[in-house]
Amino acid sequence: MNHKLTAQPALIDPFGRTVNYLRISVTDRCNLRCVYCMAEDMIFLPREQLLSLEEIETIAKAFVGLGVNKIRLTGGEPMVRKGIVGLCEKLSSLDGLNELVMTTNGVLLDQHANDLAKAGVKRLNISLDSLQAKRVKQITRHGQLADVLSGIEAAGNAGFERIKLNVVVLAGVNDDEVIDLAEFALVRGFDISFIEEMPLGEISSHKRKDTQVASLSLAQRLAEKFDFEPENNLDLNSNQLSNKGPSRYQKVSGYTGRIGFISPMTDNFCSRCNRVRLTSEGKLLLCLGNEHSMDLREIVRDNTNAEVDLPIAIRDAITRKPEKHHFDANKTDIIRFMNMTGG
Ligand code: SAM
Ligand code: SF4
Repeated sequence: MNHKLTAQPALIDPFGRTVNYLRISVTDRCNLRCVYCMAEDMIFLPREQLLSLEEIETIAKAFVGLGVNKIRLTGGEPMVRKGIVGLCEKLSSLDGLNELVMTTNGVLLDQHANDLAKAGVKRLNISLDSLQAKRVKQITRHGQLADVLSGIEAAGNAGFERIKLNVVVLAGVNDDEVIDLAEFALVRGFDISFIEEMPLGEISSHKRKDTQVASLSLAQRLAEKFDFEPENNLDLNSNQLSNKGPSRYQKVSGYTGRIGFISPMTDNFCSRCNRVRLTSEGKLLLCLGNEHSMDLREIVRDNTNAEVDLPIAIRDAITRKPEKHHFDANKTDIIRFMNMTGG
């Protein structure tokens, strides 16, 4: 089963976008229950429905053979998947993959950051929505700020090329902390991204239309405190936060880290989309905000011809990648929770 994959034409969708980035949800399970991501009582998939580590590796290899050069492992919480470090070792050695990266809530990083770095994970995104212990507990339902902070410290010492903190900003919950959080990241040389909450999965903790915070308003507030460098200045006077290139990172004078904005609700970035997502049960999702998908588990499971069948199926799926999402904070059209999707 170790055939050399011959170079194949890139994956290009009907809108001319090249797909070179795969996000893999390695598990739907999590040690936290963040209010924007999950319901309090979640029913997780029966284990046999999850892709095995070998199946994930086979699918990843097929994507890399089709020109995908970046893979992000996510979930659920990737660190709760048994065997995750071994999977990282396998994936990072795939010929043609430039970057293996991971998104984690940081809770288990204290124990595993060094192993991940050694296994070839180049960069980490770590979720941190507040620097206040009480709020972290309220937002994550189970999380302890101290665990995440020691995880972040361990990651900082483990030799990753870059670390980014991810903050989902909710009005009236943590929006008063954006400057503190930015400072926390920047003084450590980390990047930080502020994310607009997306309406994925029905939740009961809050009404998403009431907690929306537009990136533009955050950027304006942050620009009063930090000196945004002019060469890639975001346009803070338009009615939408945008800059010239696809990057929505703002350089800040005096720091190596940058401030980023992920604005799925107020600035549709779909024309720049280069990614697809593999769910923990093996569905290839072609867009975060649409249900278009293809079942790759069916193709990879118990199939000795998977290495031939997978590229054909993946190419076929890419022809169905939707042009854009249509998120509306007033309604939840997508019933999938973010932990299923792989954020
Ligand atoms: N458990 C890991 C973590 O929290 O970093 C990885 C999975 S989590 C689903 C990936 C990212 O999605 C996190 O940064 C999280 O904050 C974000 N996220 C979850 N639900 C979201 C939502 N409804 N809208 C926007 N971002 C969300
Ligand atoms: Fe778990 Fe991450 Fe979702 Fe929070 S955002 S519940 S840590 S998967």
